[in-house]
Amino acid sequence: MGFLKDAAAVFKKKELIFKERRQISGDVYTFSFEKPEGVSWQAGQHGLFTITHRKVKPPTKPFTISSSPREDVIEVTTRIDDRPSDYKQALLELEPGMEMTMSGPAGSFHTDGGERTVFIAGGIGITPFHAMLSELADADIRVETPPVLLYVDGEGKFTYSGELSDISDRGIAEVRFIESSEGLHKELELLEGADVEKYLIAGPYSMVESVSKHLTGTGVPKKNIRKETFIGY
Ligand SMILES: Cc1cc2nc3c(=O)[nH]c(=O)nc-3n(C[C@H](O)[C@H](O)[C@H](O)COP(=O)(O)OP(=O)(O)OC[C@H]3O[C@@H](n4cnc5c(N)ncnc54)[C@H](O)[C@@H]3O)c2cc1C
Repeated sequence: MGFLKDAAAVFKKKELIFKERRQISGDVYTFSFEKPEGVSWQAGQHGLFTITHRKVKPPTKPFTISSSPREDVIEVTTRIDDRPSDYKQALLELEPGMEMTMSGPAGSFHTDGGERTVFIAGGIGITPFHAMLSELADADIRVETPPVLLYVDGEGKFTYSGELSDISDRGIAEVRFIESSEGLHKELELLEGADVEKYLIAGPYSMVESVSKHLTGTGVPKKNIRKETFIGY
């Protein structure tokens, strides 16, 4: 009963009040909402966000919460090109004070702490890692073996590049910007034998699956790999 009650609380829809939109790089936008009272989450989790100001098909899509749980906002960061879907067009119409709803946050894509972790992001798959690293940066947490972020983007369009470089300079994480899968494989080779306990991979399906296959091919046990597939890319 307790579990069912908890699950019901997580999936109850929360009203989110829109604050602002920021174009953070190229075609990448962050949508910021006030954090409703009593909502908490683990960095890396996602919510189901529903457009309510007009009819949209489908009205609900999953998005990682890209802000740190220590902040007073719930943020969604997404790529919107010049032919946005109906859903993303509706996101662009939001004005301060308008509402959306969110179910969750939910999901098991987060770190358990205390383990050597390698984060592998493909494109917009950077969002969960941005939440995780911002949380460490906000609290100024430096560990002996910092997490390693391998951030791959074939076009070299690295969202949050300034912020991530700063996090790397402060010794909170080791961040590498990579532009090809060969480059990624080289970086992964360098980490072999580094006693990595968990690999977390986020991004489009083909990228997540190919990196996961590469890792298992080099002997990494499946149980040490966590995946978040951004369906829709
Ligand atoms: C757990 C999870 C977490 C996720 N987190 C994120 C995240 O943090 N950030 C993120 O960006 N995504 C995230 N996603 C993916 C997200 O849910 C969407 O699927 C994704 O952003 C694509 O949305 P879309 O509306 O552009 O998709 P679609 O509707 O599938 O559109 C895809 C593309 O098709 C074209 N298109 C669509 N409709 C039209 C039309 N009517 N006319 C012309 N062209 C059209 C557009 O170019 C559009 O970009 C996540 C997914 C999961 C499962």
